[in-house]
Amino acid sequence: MDTAMCSLCKRSEAFFFRPYSGEKLCRKCFARSIENKVRATIAKYGMLEYNDRIAVAVSGGKDSLSLLHILGKIEEDYPKASIVAVSVDEGIEGYRDEALKIAAENCGKLSIEHHVISFKEIYGYTLDEIVKRLKTRGKSDLTPCAYCGVLRRKALNIITRKVNADKLATAHTLDDETQTILLNILHGDILRIAREKPKTDESHPKLVQRIKPFCEIPEKETTLYAYVKKIRFQDKPCPYSSEALRNDIRVFLNRMEQKHSGVKFTIFNSAERIRQALKESSEKEALKECLECGEPTTQEVCKACQMLHELES
Ligand code: SF4
Ligand code: ZN
Ligand code: ZN
Repeated sequence: MDTAMCSLCKRSEAFFFRPYSGEKLCRKCFARSIENKVRATIAKYGMLEYNDRIAVAVSGGKDSLSLLHILGKIEEDYPKASIVAVSVDEGIEGYRDEALKIAAENCGKLSIEHHVISFKEIYGYTLDEIVKRLKTRGKSDLTPCAYCGVLRRKALNIITRKVNADKLATAHTLDDETQTILLNILHGDILRIAREKPKTDESHPKLVQRIKPFCEIPEKETTLYAYVKKIRFQDKPCPYSSEALRNDIRVFLNRMEQKHSGVKFTIFNSAERIRQALKESSEKEALKECLECGEPTTQEVCKACQMLHELES
């Protein structure tokens, strides 16, 4: 078989073909292209200041560890910036405990400080306990993921403030973003698309700004980056993973992308246009502080506190 040469360096053998650009890349050029893409995304959306303290949300999976490695590298160019890794321990036995060990190991190797916050310490329950409680009462229409998502979001906000970071970087990829866009459309929640930006607005002093430096990189490539860089990560699925609709959308989008390469970028860019249009036409939703816990929310009592009440009632 014909061995193709890398289209960038023209010296090494290509091992990856990027259908949406036509490039064939060797390992080195591929890894560099991902790092450059992250730099370009950060610049495009104005994600970072030269002196930011950046908290990277690290779950122990491939995407978040790839992001930690890349941001660690980029941060070396900014002597006034610093990086800290933050993790949430939801309390999922046999799953998150293992992932957190791997996360800690990576942070050690990269000499990046690592802080963990747990559901148990802030909410009084682990996710395992919440799921058990829901089962014995047989009353929830919500899945474990629905609880986990809301509670984790709040936990990340709290820990990011606690470690004095200015921004929270999460490893959402182009795939996560396009899935979420379609999910929101299927749920009829178009306003949510406006809120889920690559870099969120500064809407309340207690709500940490979130950035998504991988938002324009397909998941296939963030995974490949982890393999090329020999990053150790957890690849076991969560035992509660139950997002049926998201999974259907994932399969659909991957099939579409295979037939019509670039379609994920088109969806992502459409959402950007929707955001622009909505920004111009709507006023900002005012955030207030939750009457019970003091975290920022659009309601009187935040969603996390409401969920916990339901558990207790
Ligand atoms: Fe939480 Fe669901 Fe993710 Fe498991 S799959 S960590 S329950 S959001
Ligand atoms: Zn090359
Ligand atoms: Zn609250």
